[in-house]
Amino acid sequence: MTRCLNCGAERLSDTCDACGLSSSAAEFSLRRSLLNRTALFLVGAIAFIVASGRYPALELDGIVIFIGVVFFLTLGLAIIVERRALRHQEVESLKRIYYGLLPLPWLLAALLYGNGALDRSPAHVEKARVISRFSMTGPVPSRRLIVNSWRAGHRFERIPVDRSDFDRFTTGDIVDIQVKDGLVSIPWVATVSRD
Ligand SMILES: [Zn+2]
Repeated sequence: MTRCLNCGAERLSDTCDACGLSSSAAEFSLRRSLLNRTALFLVGAIAFIVASGRYPALELDGIVIFIGVVFFLTLGLAIIVERRALRHQEVESLKRIYYGLLPLPWLLAALLYGNGALDRSPAHVEKARVISRFSMTGPVPSRRLIVNSWRAGHRFERIPVDRSDFDRFTTGDIVDIQVKDGLVSIPWVATVSRD
């Protein structure tokens, strides 16, 4: 049994009874849809990077690893779906998983943005000593101050900072970190200043 690449209906002849597209027209339609949706997905990934830079979560590294896995999984799926479509093979279930993964960067971006922008909780100041610094350049630069943790069960905190804060502090500095609880309980770092 073959399914129409455009609408997913069972296809008995070259022309789909449900949407009226021939198999090559359906393939073209699917590939165009994949391209458009992948573009939206990439914009969502950029929105996530912007939101996570504006309201950096205390546990940003874990979130970034999660979104990184989702990112490559989704793009990998897009490639598989397109290759299968080229060979006119079954794509329906893979396509649904792919479409299901697409909104994730947008949802996470909105979550991080709302968590910070709508947060009316008072900031609490945590004193910590800078133990080391970590900086990674590239298309998505990340800069962290590694400080001793004030939370039970944590030895270190990796505080996301922008470039000017990163350059301002050196190992051994005592810093005041303003942490806010977040609207949806994702603690985030408002500012870092010298003690
Ligand atoms: Zn169809």
